Amino acid sequence: MSGKENGKKENKAREIIENYDGPGLRIMEVCGTHTHEIFRLGIRQILPPQVELISGPGCPVCVTPADFIDEAVWLALEKGVTVCTFGDLVRVPGSKMSLAGARAEGGKVQIVYSPLDACQYAADHPEEEVVFLSVGFETTTPAACLSLQEADRQGITNYSVLTANKTMPRAYEALRGSADVFLYPGHVNAITGTALCKSLAEEGISGVVAGFTAKELLAALAIALKKYQEGKPFFVNAYPRVVSEEGSPGAMKLVDEWMEACDSEWRGLGLIPGSGLKIKKDPERYDARVRYGVPKMEGRSNPACRCGEVLQGKCLPTDCPIFGKACNPLHPVGACMVSGEGACSAYYQYALR
Ligand code: SF4
Repeated sequence: MSGKENGKKENKAREIIENYDGPGLRIMEVCGTHTHEIFRLGIRQILPPQVELISGPGCPVCVTPADFIDEAVWLALEKGVTVCTFGDLVRVPGSKMSLAGARAEGGKVQIVYSPLDACQYAADHPEEEVVFLSVGFETTTPAACLSLQEADRQGITNYSVLTANKTMPRAYEALRGSADVFLYPGHVNAITGTALCKSLAEEGISGVVAGFTAKELLAALAIALKKYQEGKPFFVNAYPRVVSEEGSPGAMKLVDEWMEACDSEWRGLGLIPGSGLKIKKDPERYDARVRYGVPKMEGRSNPACRCGEVLQGKCLPTDCPIFGKACNPLHPVGACMVSGEGACSAYYQYALR
């Protein structure tokens, strides 16, 4: 498609959004990256007042509960393992301290950019016990499994994974009724395909798969508004250049080889049966919980923090009494302010301007 045609489509989508005079509706940005991009691109400014955008649970760091941080801190301080993690998790508060706090107390916390980096770190440091903190959704889980496959292939015996991986299907069910339309995270659908979203539409849950550019987001929102006026549940894949009906069978097969479904605790949403993943292949070796006998933790979040409600679209970050005051990006009280995908950090960066 030429640049001119692209521009025309973008203008058309923009026109539909600006001129929408249908019934009021709530659209949930399931994915934190959508929240940030919609703010950054100024799309909120062109929405009519009856169209409300609310944030959802699609930020992996934000939905990871405090007890997972407690487990990681325990591994670093009590077992002396090297904890490898993405940078975002380091400042997320646990019940008593964050991983940054554990590091200050002598724990070894190593920031990595991918699970394969963590596996390589283990290969390069055979004298250390190395645990990778595996969080995220269908998008990132295959990379964690790839690192396990690589450890297996290379015979790396000092590498294991602490899982808090989550899957979206049961979360959508748990969120039923919290929004009129879901803006589905395109990168998740790139892995899973679109069958689930189609079946959700049959059950009355409407949604549009959205990409991440201005054109893709405008198109997805324009489609949501047009279809909503028709008064029937719908599903549209508005990100066809990346998302196919069948998704990525290779990635799903890899995950299936290494992990299996388990119940999982979501910050804000509570325990959702069957919504998590745990290691199924050789857990004594690769599952850090089994390998090190991690005790059950009763994670506690700061009682002032309203992340749980923010993640369900029940309140806006700005409704939290400590937003922008005691809780800010330099001194985050909750996970939604820490993560680069968190709704509170998006509101802090953009809504306060
Ligand atoms: S502003 Fe801070 S304390 Fe309040 S909900 Fe957001 S992350 Fe939690």
